[in-house]
Amino acid sequence: MSTMTAALLRTHGDRSVIQLEQVPIPDLGPDEVRLRVRACALNWLDVGVRLGPKFGPIPLPLITGSDIAGVIEALGPGVTGWQVGDEVLVYPLITCGRCEFCRRGEPTTCPEHRIIGEHINGGLADFTVVPAANLMRKPASLSFVEAAALPVVFMTAWHMLIRIGGLQAGEDVLILGAGGGVASAGIQIARYAGARVLTTTSTREKAKRAEELGASEVFNYRAEDWVNGVLTATHGRGVDLVQDNVGAATWPSSLRVLARNGRLVPCGSHSGARVELEIGQIYHKQLRILGSNGGTYQDLAAALALVEAGHIRPVVDTVLPLAQIRKGHRLLEEGSHFGKVVITI
Ligand SMILES: [Zn+2]
Repeated sequence: MSTMTAALLRTHGDRSVIQLEQVPIPDLGPDEVRLRVRACALNWLDVGVRLGPKFGPIPLPLITGSDIAGVIEALGPGVTGWQVGDEVLVYPLITCGRCEFCRRGEPTTCPEHRIIGEHINGGLADFTVVPAANLMRKPASLSFVEAAALPVVFMTAWHMLIRIGGLQAGEDVLILGAGGGVASAGIQIARYAGARVLTTTSTREKAKRAEELGASEVFNYRAEDWVNGVLTATHGRGVDLVQDNVGAATWPSSLRVLARNGRLVPCGSHSGARVELEIGQIYHKQLRILGSNGGTYQDLAAALALVEAGHIRPVVDTVLPLAQIRKGHRLLEEGSHFGKVVITI
């Protein structure tokens, strides 16, 4: 039996539980393709999966890695429209397609939804098998590293800002933590949509990067009171939408800087998941809290079209070989990066 190298989790825990092992090359089923993986970006999800389940069971052993770019190596029975040698990236959600929520066009709320790299084996290996329905053609203008930096953060930011948040041209939007992948995608999408972008970050260097991506106002949350900064920049009115994946540490301030009828769109809670809120503030200002979880195939396709047209671009911070996968996790946990950490295979 032929084998491949994979970054395997056999148990949950600190970075030492990620082991490079030889495992069998996965078999192909109907409507699936086998990819030779060329690059796989890391996400906070990889760290979360390694630490242990928060929202339901994670099957072990598991090959993580949800952001995959590669080349089709073999086609399963029934696959049409793709050929061996095609260069692709992978939409990471697998949904049932039959439930009320899938039929409603919101597969992100499918009760049976599974994420490649969390519930089934992902891309941190020489080969991976994915449904052909999840493939997207890699634009020739993008490297494999750039293509792998796209799916999770661009579909998430598009879903938050455009589909769920309904961001309009002329609105003010606050995007928290500019250095994160979803934020660096969100800054660009919001700017392209015609909104004025305000953002927070921790260093002068990151502030400069955020401005290059299209942010008009950048507040250093270590050095200044960003709530005052946002209110001053909006003449006391506040912003129309806050993209918040920070969580407990920022929710009270996010609600405070929202304008009347403003929308808070959360998609994560790294800093903690429990928070005390002032309910009166929510109904007096008629605030709306709109949860967002991942993104749809169409969200990713829309973002990819803008990337192909040169309007927005993936932001890559660090590229590492698979042998340095633990260092990649460390970079994410330290939070000193700006943009994506990508593993090449
Ligand atoms: Zn479904």
